[in-house]
Amino acid sequence: MRTSILAVGTELLFGQTVNTNAAFLSDKLNHMGFDVMYHFVVGDNPDRLREKLAEAFSDTDLVLLTGGLGPTQDDLTKEIVADFMGAELYRDEKVIEDLKAFFERHGRQMSENNIKQAYLPVGCTPLYNASGTAPGFALEKDGKIAICFPGPPREMKWLWENGAKQYLEGFMEKKMFYRVIRTIGRGESDLEMDLMPLIDGQTDPTIATYAKEGECTLRVASQRDTMEEAEKAVEEMIARIEGIAGEYIYSYDDEELNEVVVRLLKEKGLTISAAESCTGGKFAAAITDVAGASEVIQYSYVTYSCQAKTDMVGVPAEMIEEFSVVSPEVAEAMAAGARAASGADIGIAITGYAGPEADPGREAGEAYIGYAYGDKTGAVEVRTSRNFRKWNRNYFVLRMLRTVYKLIK
Ligand code: AMP
Ligand code: MG
Repeated sequence: MRTSILAVGTELLFGQTVNTNAAFLSDKLNHMGFDVMYHFVVGDNPDRLREKLAEAFSDTDLVLLTGGLGPTQDDLTKEIVADFMGAELYRDEKVIEDLKAFFERHGRQMSENNIKQAYLPVGCTPLYNASGTAPGFALEKDGKIAICFPGPPREMKWLWENGAKQYLEGFMEKKMFYRVIRTIGRGESDLEMDLMPLIDGQTDPTIATYAKEGECTLRVASQRDTMEEAEKAVEEMIARIEGIAGEYIYSYDDEELNEVVVRLLKEKGLTISAAESCTGGKFAAAITDVAGASEVIQYSYVTYSCQAKTDMVGVPAEMIEEFSVVSPEVAEAMAAGARAASGADIGIAITGYAGPEADPGREAGEAYIGYAYGDKTGAVEVRTSRNFRKWNRNYFVLRMLRTVYKLIK
């Protein structure tokens, strides 16, 4: 069903409030298989609201509105939607009861203007609101549906989960199944080119790619008559994707890379230690971000200076002198040193230029990741060709995690 979202509220136009309601609803609607075509934002102005409502309904059949349902004078959404769809308002006694109970619970006096919230369009499906005072509602007429939510995100989400979602499920002709694959190590445009034979001309399952901070996510979705058919179509497509891009995939269930790595380390009963130069401890932070990390990490080293690399993880000063501190040799020695000093099963290390500056003749974004696990030792080169310090440091950590992932998978 062609869908749009119309957010109402002058604060959204002033930039004081970010339109998170539209993002939330779009995500949910997309996952259910509704095609979201437009986002509109309009201030608390009746004429412009009416105009945008008409525009939304001129090209879409379902319009979700948020905001402007409260008790005050500038809350006009309900009145305008009802008028637009030719519905009178009635006084809903259940809302009155809910309001009385709400104010009693909070030990407050209900002011007269709150009664305004108890009026709903005749013929609507009320969305009673146990998380606040303003109810929402769904109103259908001649194949067009408007669903109104209060503006506060907490209440909007509550009404989505407890009413609106169930209401819309009744309009879903097909069942939707999807999985989210996470990849790292190949840019979005390259990955899309790799997968072009699968993407080109495909209408179902669909493959959508999203780039995110050095990672790329693929959403594979299918809409079929039954859930079983949709699931089967998605699994078959995933098998084909794996045949082409398997080496970049680290999760088939939208997990974070650090979570996957810690889970794998736990499953295999392995411990890890890092010697970090340009990431300054961010790798250890990524590991310890995951609950239960104490099973897999005991010591980790921040060896920022050459002296620290020698003192803490035993990299020979002559080696640094000979190969330069940013070199595969030093990275490998750091990893071996971290493993030896900590007694962990795996040593991982990084030395590189986070930027924006690099040593003469070298470039920001160049780094070497050393590893030592069993008799597997070595180093991999990373070149981001970027000089954004923050981006590089985050990306380096992802590549360290990926190196570990590949080592132990
Ligand atoms: P309202 O229902 O229009 O009275 O909105 C109440 C409050 O909800 C506003 O002051 C905002 O803080 C918040 N809000 C309204 N619309 C949105 C939106 N589209 N996204 C996020 N927050 C919103
Ligand atoms: Mg408002």
